[in-house]
Amino acid sequence: MAQSCFRHSRRETNLKCGRCGRPICSECLTHTDVGIRCPVCINEMRPVGFDVSPAHFILATMAAVGVGAAGGALNGFMLLKVIWLPFFLSAAFFLLVAYLVGESTARLIGVRHSTGLQVVAGLGVVVAYVVTNIIKSQVLFVLEPFTIVIVVIAIAVATSRIR
Ligand SMILES: [Zn+2]
Ligand SMILES: [Zn+2]
Repeated sequence: MAQSCFRHSRRETNLKCGRCGRPICSECLTHTDVGIRCPVCINEMRPVGFDVSPAHFILATMAAVGVGAAGGALNGFMLLKVIWLPFFLSAAFFLLVAYLVGESTARLIGVRHSTGLQVVAGLGVVVAYVVTNIIKSQVLFVLEPFTIVIVVIAIAVATSRIR
């Protein structure tokens, strides 16, 4: 049975929007990667990377930076002030911090797939690294090759929680 386009009441159609289900004529519809969409749904679709509302985005950034800073500080103190920690244990702890950064970012706002949030989680890891180095040695950028590898792995761990 044919329904009429929700924008053109006189035009009969068998097509409908794949998102909201409204009947729509061939003139109004837009073909997307995920199927037919009506103009209303096209307007509501945000570009990739901004698929999270600004408020949630800010919340996620605060979580990533907060967890990253706390974890980085803990790592720095363990390395320097409290106990002597072998490098591989510090690296393992750093990866754990990265995991927590990714998890808290994703869990807090319940979003699992977001390019923007992956960037936020990556930022959290960089914050953890910078804070660790500030406390450990007062030298901001200790860029040894092995350390860089650990940071890259850590960023991959954090962003994998959101992919
Ligand atoms: Zn629609
Ligand atoms: Zn129409």
